[in-house]
Amino acid sequence: MVITRFAPSPTGRLHVGNVRTALHNWLLARKAGGRFLLRIDDTDAARSEERFVDAIHEDLAWLGLDYDGEERQSARLAVYEDAFARLRADGRVYPAYETAQELDLKRKVLLGRGLPPIYDRAALQLTEAERAAKEAEGVAPHWRFRLDHDEPIAWEDGIRGAQHFDAAQLSDPVVRRADGSWLYMLPSAVDDIAMGVTDVLRGEDHVSNTAVQLQMFTALHAAPPRFAHEALLVGREGKLSKRLGALGCDALREAGIEPEALLALLARLGTSQPVEPVAERSALVAGFDLASFGRAPAKFDDAELARLNTAIIHQLPYARVAEQLPEGMGAEAWEAIRPNLETLADAADWWRIVTGPVEAPDMDAETRHFLTLAADALEDVNWGDDPWRALTGALKESTGRKGKALFLPLRQALTGRDHGPDMHLLLPLIGRQRAQDRLRAAA
Ligand code: GLU
Repeated sequence: MVITRFAPSPTGRLHVGNVRTALHNWLLARKAGGRFLLRIDDTDAARSEERFVDAIHEDLAWLGLDYDGEERQSARLAVYEDAFARLRADGRVYPAYETAQELDLKRKVLLGRGLPPIYDRAALQLTEAERAAKEAEGVAPHWRFRLDHDEPIAWEDGIRGAQHFDAAQLSDPVVRRADGSWLYMLPSAVDDIAMGVTDVLRGEDHVSNTAVQLQMFTALHAAPPRFAHEALLVGREGKLSKRLGALGCDALREAGIEPEALLALLARLGTSQPVEPVAERSALVAGFDLASFGRAPAKFDDAELARLNTAIIHQLPYARVAEQLPEGMGAEAWEAIRPNLETLADAADWWRIVTGPVEAPDMDAETRHFLTLAADALEDVNWGDDPWRALTGALKESTGRKGKALFLPLRQALTGRDHGPDMHLLLPLIGRQRAQDRLRAAA
């Protein structure tokens, strides 16, 4: 049974990078018929906020990424305490007393000599008496995980292929602060074990964390999950700092982006599969394949998202959008208006053109006479099937007008605009009475 998890820290809104990670883990689980879990990484009490937990729920619901279980790290502190006690008993965590300034100085000295800034393990050399002295001074220790320099670190990454690390080239990571609070690394490994996570799929920025966490799994006597690290998402010009790519789901939603569009883009961006307006999630699930993921950074482009959004909107069925449409706008109106929309919010503008009032441009005397004839002709039009065809057919015959001279003044008088939805579909929505009123008003 494949089990994946999405583990956001509730320190802000979900942005496209988080959504991509959530989506890929969801797709991986759904494709395998497995389970997708939500884990709220809120051990950092100072930076975590309840409103962002709510926002994560809201955003995942908006995206339609359903999960099969939810855990909160802040509710699992006893479990971490227990794992910590075991690691301590086994000598795999050790207290360290350096201040941030001291550590900073050590790093600078090493870098100054052209050496990698690896922690020198000075704390491991402290004698019992030296430690007691620190404690007596009231210096509380922070805790480091002791990497095993003799244990080779290697894994077959689902995206990056064979990976190797030399533990001696890594610093023993701090896992617990002096105030007793947890850093990300150990609780995450403990949870992945407890929750039976089989596949960890996350950004490339976590590769070196994986090297360290692999030793944590071993130290906790557990088999590690499979790991895959995807190339980061970047903006078109490099950083993902400007425009939609940097915004939260709430801002994307306000900008008129539909979740289907965001998912269709993020599912395939950075893979060898073409980005297409795929509105059906089942199609994204079926096509998901880690083997198609590339190593180059994936480029996020606002314009591509907007194009995809429009193409997706043109496919959405009425039932999907009904609740977001203006009061009274039914399925026929949706079908008529849909091809003209860039965003769903534009539907209200077109619906106002159906319900009125509309303002037609000024027309010359001859055209006004033509519109009077049109209003009269509407009287005899059989409304049942295609009144627009019947109306324009009758007018063509009686006035000799054709092409633009026939259609444009009618469209202008009926909608107040030169362009818009197909009049065959629009006129039945406007209705005979309103159409006649508009034609007479313009005449
Ligand atoms: N809370 C971590 C993050 O947001 C989770 C990383 C992981 O997937 O293990 O970076």
